[in-house]
Amino acid sequence: MMSFFAPFHPIAAIATTPQGIQLLHPLCQQIGATLHVRETQKQLNNTHIYQGSLKDYLASIWSQNNAFIFSLATGAVVRLIAPLLQDKLNDPAIIVIDATGNFVISLCSGHQGGADQLTRLIAHQLNATPIITGAANGLNLPGIDILGFPFGWGKGQGNWTEVSSLIARGETVQVIQEVGSTLWQNNLPKNHPLYFGFSDVNETINPQGRIWISATERRFANESNFPKVQWHPRVLWVGIGCIRGTSQNLIERAINQVFQQYHLAINAIAGLATIELKADEIGLIAYCRDKQFPLKIFSADTLKIIEVPNPSSIVQQEVGTPSVAEASAIAAANSDVNFLLVSKQIIKSEDEGSVTIAIAQSNREYTGKKGTLYLVGTGPGNLNQLTPAAKTAITDADVIIGYSLYLDLIKPLQCPGQIIEALPITQEKQRATRAIELAQWGLTVAVVSSGDCGIYGMAGLVLEELKKQGWDGQNPSVEVVPGITALQATASRVGAPLMHDFCAISLSDLLTPWEVIKKRLEAAAMADFVTAIYNPRSQTRTQQIIHTQKVFLQYRDSQTPVALVRSAYREDEEITLTSLEKMLDFTIDMLTTVIIGNSSTYRHNNWIITPRGYNKN
Ligand code: SAH
Repeated sequence: MMSFFAPFHPIAAIATTPQGIQLLHPLCQQIGATLHVRETQKQLNNTHIYQGSLKDYLASIWSQNNAFIFSLATGAVVRLIAPLLQDKLNDPAIIVIDATGNFVISLCSGHQGGADQLTRLIAHQLNATPIITGAANGLNLPGIDILGFPFGWGKGQGNWTEVSSLIARGETVQVIQEVGSTLWQNNLPKNHPLYFGFSDVNETINPQGRIWISATERRFANESNFPKVQWHPRVLWVGIGCIRGTSQNLIERAINQVFQQYHLAINAIAGLATIELKADEIGLIAYCRDKQFPLKIFSADTLKIIEVPNPSSIVQQEVGTPSVAEASAIAAANSDVNFLLVSKQIIKSEDEGSVTIAIAQSNREYTGKKGTLYLVGTGPGNLNQLTPAAKTAITDADVIIGYSLYLDLIKPLQCPGQIIEALPITQEKQRATRAIELAQWGLTVAVVSSGDCGIYGMAGLVLEELKKQGWDGQNPSVEVVPGITALQATASRVGAPLMHDFCAISLSDLLTPWEVIKKRLEAAAMADFVTAIYNPRSQTRTQQIIHTQKVFLQYRDSQTPVALVRSAYREDEEITLTSLEKMLDFTIDMLTTVIIGNSSTYRHNNWIITPRGYNKN
């Protein structure tokens, strides 16, 4: 099962006809969904059988599933789900696939429910067309109500429907972002209706609504004619000190009270922090568990050197640091004393203990997510040489990182709101480091290479760098998604030259010493391998291909067929069939792959054939 679909689980699929079952059954296996069929239908493995009416059955499984996939007429689906729908926040994603499997329709809960995204992923899986009718998608804008999902932002109060519809109508909406990542702003389409300045500075711009992105909790009037919404990036670290046995209840009340007093959003809490001595404090642990907050623990030695506004000599005597709450908030936020938003507040209760709270703000929000790295091969060039799995990985990514040429090739696959980072061809290491940094922060990152990612591509660089950083093999999770590599692509254009044992040799001596390359050329030539030469010649590296020819001429006939395929499956594709003797008379550059046949390879018209067996007849 593919991991792209895990966040949508549990998924229920429903089909009522043999065709529908035939369509959904394999899909369910691929995406980890459960297929539900009526008892009268043909029974297959891994299906759930129901009796009686679908309407009643649906009601009984409605709340247990995050998503439903129907192979039914849209009209029938609409009637079935109508009585069960509540609102955007709670409804599951509803997807309909037409009987031929050519179209996947996002019917309901496109944004929060994730139906749009699930629709795109399934469409790639089936090689079908996704049908998404939301206005934001049409404008190529990220949905305002899902903007913060990649970064784990908490969603605040506001008139989401009205602000979304302003944007859909192209009305100007002001964005005031005080905290959190601004990466989402980098790839907005031209002419987007968002305005990032302040209205009083520029009077010609007249925003009709506002998006706040901040740690502050703003109270909006219900029926304001200036609609506003707020996102809360999780930048606040709450430092906690308490006396032994303080109740969970008091800790929660104290935090709520301080947050309210300072107009801070509970949704903006990244986590809690305290001193080692409190690592087993029952109330604190229970509070963090219930709220799913991380609890960062610091030693007295770490805390005592942090500068704080309110050090205490009594605390110093008791626990070996003059500050617990303030110092651990600052330490957790990885900031300095200037980012202490709230200095220590003491909240006591006669019978429940006593809590000290301080709040610091970090530069980068806590996403609360486990990151993923997809190392994706995008094939030789043309989109139809890209596997459905690679398309799915690219669609699933929050960020796509690659060399700009390859990013251009996959542009048609990009989704609204995706972060695209192009780095020059020479900066592979920087690309790897950047991808890892973003994945460690919690994002889903696709690193793309042309061809196969694991053949002279980014996969090795990323894994090497992860290893250097002491990666545990799991976090971030890594999935390598194969692509059609240049040697397969070029071979396919000239026939079947790779039919027998073959090898690939790159002539690039940037990362491999020339002495090693020479040895391998010699060995391949001697062993009669069909040989595909990658990176055969660059503007400055011109001698290596000459040497290669010389080596092969020592072991093979001068008439051995050679194919020079440049830019296979791209618009400027060029194919030259020649011989070992003549190969240097033609253009060979960094876009070319050279295939040298073995001793039994022959040419027939415009085709190169290497016999499958040793028997030559
Ligand atoms: N990861 C890539 C290889 C990158 S090395 C893959 O698996 O294909 C770059 C070399 O690959 C180029 O110098 C060229 O030799 C070869 N190459 C890549 N794409 C090609 C294409 N479309 N046609 C011919 N050769 C190609």
